[in-house]
Amino acid sequence: MWFLFSRRVVLAMALASWIASSANASAQRLRELEALAWDDPHRVAAMARAEAHAATDDETRFWALLAGARALDLLELEESTAQALDQAEQVLSRWAGATERHRLWLASSRLLGSWRVETPQQSLTRLDELRRRLSGSDDAYLACDLKESEVSVLVDSGSLDEAWLAAEDWERCARTLGEPIKQVWAIATFGTIAGRGQGRTQADPDEHYARAFQVLGDLKARTLRNALLYQRAEALRLVGRVDAASTYYRDSIALGREVGDEAAVAAGNIGLATIYLDRHEPTQALPLLREARTLLEPGDSAFRMFGVVLQLVRAHTQLRSAELPAAMVQARRYDTEAVPGADRAGLARVLAAAYASQGRFKEAYAETERAQALVDERRRSAAEVQNLRLQARYAAAQRDAENAELRHRGELAQAELSAQDATRRALWATVATLGALLMAAAGWAWSAIARRRALADLAMRDDLTGQPNRRAVTRHATEQFLLAREKGTPLTLALIDIDHFKRVNDVRGHAGGDAVLRALAIAGTAVMRSQDVLGRWGGEEWLLVLPGLRITELPQVFARLREKFADTPAQGIDGPHGVTFSMGGAELGPDLPHLDALIAVCDERLYRAKSAGRDRLCHEDIVTDAEVAGSSGGLQAYAG
Ligand code: GH3
Ligand code: MG
Ligand code: MG
Repeated sequence: MWFLFSRRVVLAMALASWIASSANASAQRLRELEALAWDDPHRVAAMARAEAHAATDDETRFWALLAGARALDLLELEESTAQALDQAEQVLSRWAGATERHRLWLASSRLLGSWRVETPQQSLTRLDELRRRLSGSDDAYLACDLKESEVSVLVDSGSLDEAWLAAEDWERCARTLGEPIKQVWAIATFGTIAGRGQGRTQADPDEHYARAFQVLGDLKARTLRNALLYQRAEALRLVGRVDAASTYYRDSIALGREVGDEAAVAAGNIGLATIYLDRHEPTQALPLLREARTLLEPGDSAFRMFGVVLQLVRAHTQLRSAELPAAMVQARRYDTEAVPGADRAGLARVLAAAYASQGRFKEAYAETERAQALVDERRRSAAEVQNLRLQARYAAAQRDAENAELRHRGELAQAELSAQDATRRALWATVATLGALLMAAAGWAWSAIARRRALADLAMRDDLTGQPNRRAVTRHATEQFLLAREKGTPLTLALIDIDHFKRVNDVRGHAGGDAVLRALAIAGTAVMRSQDVLGRWGGEEWLLVLPGLRITELPQVFARLREKFADTPAQGIDGPHGVTFSMGGAELGPDLPHLDALIAVCDERLYRAKSAGRDRLCHEDIVTDAEVAGSSGGLQAYAG
């Protein structure tokens, strides 16, 4: 038996490495082009476009489109990047040979530049989802690629300690895989973090850039070199070494002009202008900012433009110029959720100074308050991210330890068996006994693990009803939402609220109310499909997650649950409990593209169902389901 087992393991290992090598070969072209793009992104974008156009098979076209997207992303051309990624997605959707690995590479590419256009929370959710999907894959390049996104998302969210750890992983995998460009880029991240003067290190950020340039050597990668110069300038400006910073900004602008990287020129200009404004030299700053605005306008990189409009407000404030009000209006246009909280707080402070310079102290005060609120919020969410990741790391470490323990027991058993087998076949009965004992021990280990997992599971369950609690059902809904959006499958959500529950408590006592809640949980479990989840949303409200279900099918679900609930006895209440519930439901769709929006509509419809008389479902903007409504006597029993 052990012999068979080990042969199967060998076969599985051979298969896995074969799959990995063929997949790596197909991603090879992407990596080649991406490396070239770090020298001349414009040229690579054109090459990739031509390659995709000329391709005779979907595989070639797909990788060329991804490479093109990455080159465009380096140029911060957000719209063109999104277009190339959409085309790659179209290829996948109609190509029968597309695999999960292709989809993961696409998703990872989408994530790379996403921190510039999404909120950190959105990116983190997608990152977690991707990491989960990646855990079954052994494409080391892909895992390393995902590290890169992880680092930028974490830096963006302000979780600098976590970003530092992720950057260490990233540098390690880039070095192991022989990707010097990525390795250099990872090292530069340490400088970025150190430049922010927080996190794990207070050390001189310049050290890291010196090391990055050293590893870069004379590799031909002008855009990377340029990015390093810019980041080095930023880090040095932030720690007050402005002369050195100015020099690096100027070098970066020159190199940006050489490769036609307009975003890089604009970024350098913004940096220099910031230094001038810090010294109250607005007339020096203004032309730099105007050039930056002209350079950025065609590509419309909202992320860079934010820096321009912010510094323009400062310049016009210092100049006491008549253009200040217009500059303030423009700055507000770029102040969106996607901008990192620290930058938004910076803008709020700049606006406060602008108002104060106009003698509008009330508005100035409001902006200062807003800045403080943004800083607080960012601190809170960074702490939350940190917390979640620590929990995840702890769970992973625990799982690894458990698996190692089991593997160890397995090896022990195998060694014992073969030793016995070789020396004394006659004693095989003893061996069998020993084997059985060892198996029992392994079984004991499994049950200990199962117990521990059950405990972890408890934290996700509601004590009273045993159903998933709000945290768990939210997590499940988020997962299902991402999955449905990715795969284009239906997803319906419904909020349930028990009718006149306060009166139920009044009439039956609190224990009676609790029993009714348990009856609803039992009824729900009995009528739901295996993929459905009914979680306690709070009090006597419930969230029902129905993957694959169309909204038109919701009335059936409502009717089934309604009937089952009416028939389910509630402990301590003789005969039918006579309690009813109302439901509001909605389906994911183009008009409801976000989970929050979906739940908000459910809530609104639940309210309509209540207003229309309770004991009914509302799943459209009008309540149309009179045929399933009210005849159980519930309303009569508890209506006031
Ligand atoms: P409506 O039909 O409009 O929903 O009326 P309602 O009386 O149900 O109103 P509402 O939803 O505001 O009432 C919620 C009540 O649920 C208030 C609270 O006392 C009760 N409740 C919340 N959690 C529990 C619980 O765990 N056990 C019990 N027994 N009652 C609870
Ligand atoms: Mg309620
Ligand atoms: Mg209620």
